[in-house]
Amino acid sequence: MFAIMKKRTPAELADVFVAPGRKYGQVAGSHIDNFVMTQRAIWLCGDCLPKFNPLKYGYVPKLHGKNRLPFVRGNCDGCKQHDDQMRMLVHHTQAME
Ligand SMILES: [Zn+2]
Repeated sequence: MFAIMKKRTPAELADVFVAPGRKYGQVAGSHIDNFVMTQRAIWLCGDCLPKFNPLKYGYVPKLHGKNRLPFVRGNCDGCKQHDDQMRMLVHHTQAME
């Protein structure tokens, strides 16, 4: 018995690395809570960022030096909308000085 290997385009191979995001029916806060518990980086758009208090959960509110958070492009972990200028929040244990 053998498997037939399907040729994949580079775009299909890149999709393997895309995070699956929030499951259908899961509340946004619950999804963010999972990220907080595992201390993973959180991507939030401009609308969702004010709803999250980074200091309360040990996340770095601002980067040192440039004094701002890095921009990322993708789907927001809160509202699932695609945005080109989201902010990435990093837990303080994983942040570089
Ligand atoms: Zn959002």
